[in-house]
Amino acid sequence: MAELNARVPLIAGNWKMNLDHLQAIAFVQKLVWTLKDADHDYADTEVVLFPPFTDLRSVQTLVAADKYELAYGGQDLSAHDSGAYTGEVSGAFLAALDSKYVIIGHSERRSYHGETDEIVNKKVLAALKHGLVPVICVGETAEDLEKHGPSAVPVGQLRTALQGVSADADIVVAYEPVWAIGSGQAATPEQAQQVAAELRKLLADVLSEESASATRILYGGSVKSGNIAGFMRETDVDGALVGGAALDLAEFSAIVRFKKHVGA
Ligand code: PEP
Repeated sequence: MAELNARVPLIAGNWKMNLDHLQAIAFVQKLVWTLKDADHDYADTEVVLFPPFTDLRSVQTLVAADKYELAYGGQDLSAHDSGAYTGEVSGAFLAALDSKYVIIGHSERRSYHGETDEIVNKKVLAALKHGLVPVICVGETAEDLEKHGPSAVPVGQLRTALQGVSADADIVVAYEPVWAIGSGQAATPEQAQQVAAELRKLLADVLSEESASATRILYGGSVKSGNIAGFMRETDVDGALVGGAALDLAEFSAIVRFKKHVGA
C-alpha cells in the first residue's frame, strides 16, 4: 500500500481563457528557465499546465523538442469519443497531443455550461478510457456552505463523479470552494484540510484504501505564493490548482517552489 508521504506534490496552473498559442510558447519557455535557474526538481514537485485547447499543439511541440519535464492537459473534454458534437474536443485528441491530465467539472463549467454531477461522471470515464488522468473538481458555493456545512456538497459531487471508476484508477481530486475561486478570499488551511480528509475517506469507501493513500488531493481558490505554504503543511493537501496566479510567472514559479518558503 502506498505511504501517505509517497504522494508527489502537484502544482497545476489553470490558464482558463487566457494566453494564445504564441503567448503560451513564451510563457512556458520563461517558466522552464525560471525553474531551471532555481534548480527545481520536477520529481519532487510535479508541475502541470492547463492552457486553452488552441495552445496545446504549440505546448506539446515545445515540451517534446526541448524535453521539458512539464506536464499539460486540457481544461475540459467531451464525454463522447467522436461524432456530431460541434465545438467539443475528444479525450482521444488530447491524448494524441501527449496530454497527461484533463480538468473535469471546474465550477465555471458547472455554472456557465450546466455540467451536472452525472455529466462530470461521464467525462471522468471518458478521460480514463483515453488514458488521461482526470483532475476532478468539486466544491461548495457560499450558499451550500451555509446550508449544508463544508464537506457535504464536495463529497456528494465526488461520489457521483466516481461511479463506475475502477479501484486502481489514476485520478486527482481538486477541492475548490466556489466562494474562494477568483475572490481573493482563500479558504484557511484548516478548512481545506477538513474537506480534503473527508474526500480521502470517500476515496477509501468507494475505491480502495490504496487509492485513498495514493490519490493527490489539491486545494484551489485564490492560492498565491504568500499562502501556499500553509496549505501544503496540511496532511491531506497534496498540491494546488491555481487560476489567476498561474498567469503571473513570478507568482506561479514561487508557488511551485513552495518548499523553499515552507517556513515563511
Ligand atoms: C481556478 O480557477 O481553478 C482557481 C482556483 O482560480 P483562482 O486561483 O484564481 O482562485
